[in-house]
Amino acid sequence: MAKALNILIAGAGPTGLTAALELARRGVIATVIERRKTPSPFSRAVGITTRSLQLLNPSGVADRLIAEGVTVRKARLYRGERRLLTIPFQSETAFFPHILALPQDRTERALADAFRALGGEVRYDLALESAAPDPEGVNVRLTDGVEARFDHLIGADGVHSLTRKAAEVAYHGHDLPGKWAIADVDAEDWPHPTAFTATLGAPGKIAVVVPIGVKRYRVISNTPDALKALAMPLEVTNIRRAAAFTISVRQAGRYSTGRIHLAGDAAHCHSPVGGRGMNLGISDAAELARRLVEGGLDDYSPLREKEGRETIAATERARKLVTAPGPARRALFTTAASLIDRIGPLKRRIGRFAVEA
Ligand SMILES: Cc1cc2nc3c(=O)[nH]c(=O)nc-3n(C[C@H](O)[C@H](O)[C@H](O)COP(=O)(O)OP(=O)(O)OC[C@H]3O[C@@H](n4cnc5c(N)ncnc54)[C@H](O)[C@@H]3O)c2cc1C
Repeated sequence: MAKALNILIAGAGPTGLTAALELARRGVIATVIERRKTPSPFSRAVGITTRSLQLLNPSGVADRLIAEGVTVRKARLYRGERRLLTIPFQSETAFFPHILALPQDRTERALADAFRALGGEVRYDLALESAAPDPEGVNVRLTDGVEARFDHLIGADGVHSLTRKAAEVAYHGHDLPGKWAIADVDAEDWPHPTAFTATLGAPGKIAVVVPIGVKRYRVISNTPDALKALAMPLEVTNIRRAAAFTISVRQAGRYSTGRIHLAGDAAHCHSPVGGRGMNLGISDAAELARRLVEGGLDDYSPLREKEGRETIAATERARKLVTAPGPARRALFTTAASLIDRIGPLKRRIGRFAVEA
């Protein structure tokens, strides 16, 4: 009988939890350690794509996310208060025909519950301190002083990944200038409770409102104050959280070094335009778990590195388009958006592409 795989996952964000769940579904209960003392309370990523839902369907997690989330059916683009473009998020062939919005802490809770139901448990307040790979496995030391050996180590420990550093993998890229900001708010009478609403304000500045619950919204902007950047009135009754942060665009040079594997933000990060970050991590994790159990591990790094590179490039193209500061490019963008709005088949094609991407 084959020896059972002994796998350590560092990090219980959406990537680590997906890897744990997908391994557990295949009969491998990994050891999952998380530096935080408790599950994260932060809403962070809010958009869930049809691809992620399809991957999380066999475990039953997709049904729970769909039941808890907001179904987003449209994207609307405004310049000030003038509507330029409405794109329908609709695909007849996608697993989930629209886009789903749910705060990340709720997604993580659903993943952790499903992992627990299969016999797994996240060990909080315990972090990876060092890792040394050899051809047969990985020796690790944890913050409780324990030294142990595992067949594989999955680094799902985010942008500052210690796993990545232990594997001596470079994180190539750059930081974007300026601050971005989010605000999670309760608001009354917002007219678009099931749409992404983007408003173009000052040159190069954009703010997007995403519904994340009943009368609850995420506002995100490439300015230090998301609510001030919104170029139309939002009647805020409560600010649940507001934060400003810088954005980096980076990717690991390789995703596997012997038996150490990187996934999620440990392997890539980029701007939130398009909402792909968490979803890319979920895809990495599902693919890695499958290949660890079913074989084909050698292809994990090249395949996911390519997917990550293409996603980062597409995200950067979209970011540059919507944040173009020059008056000429902005005028061109505004004219093009108004024109597209009059061409039904083109709008539907763009919307279908956004759902299926
Ligand atoms: C404010 C904000 C808004 C965002 N908005 C969006 C959005 O709208 N759409 C989108 O797609 N993405 C968004 N993101 C990005 C998204 O949150 C990340 O892409 C996603 O969380 C990546 O998941 P992950 O599991 O790879 O990493 P993380 O969620 O960062 O999880 C890594 C985990 O590893 C733990 N850890 C770290 N070091 C160790 C160690 N040595 N040992 C054990 N555990 C360790 C950390 O505590 C953490 O819990 C946002 C991020 C932020 C900060």
